Amino acid sequence: MHEISLVQGLLSQLQELARQNNMNRVVSITMDIGPLSGVVADSFRFGFEILAQEDDLVRDATLVINTTTVTYRCTGCDATQQTRGDKPDNCPACGELFLLAEGGDELILNRVEME
Ligand SMILES: [Zn+2]
Repeated sequence: MHEISLVQGLLSQLQELARQNNMNRVVSITMDIGPLSGVVADSFRFGFEILAQEDDLVRDATLVINTTTVTYRCTGCDATQQTRGDKPDNCPACGELFLLAEGGDELILNRVEME
């Protein structure tokens, strides 16, 4: 489960942020996770809950996960459609089968609230 090492990376990033800003506690964290990032949101949350317990800075923090969308662009007519990760069978406008994914592969620390 590679989410554990991603969570470890997140926690050291938070330690660094807290040190720079003289903060003692993380109140909430918002992550943007794309459906094509290869990160399973549930596993990420699970890893977070385990590791956060051993970490005074984030023990009581709330983790919010936003699942972002993927835009599929038609190579025939340029029409776009957004999904939660599922690749559409074809273009609804012209029926073209070859669609290109744009975005959806992000893993971003969107927002941190500290005190
Ligand atoms: Zn099309």
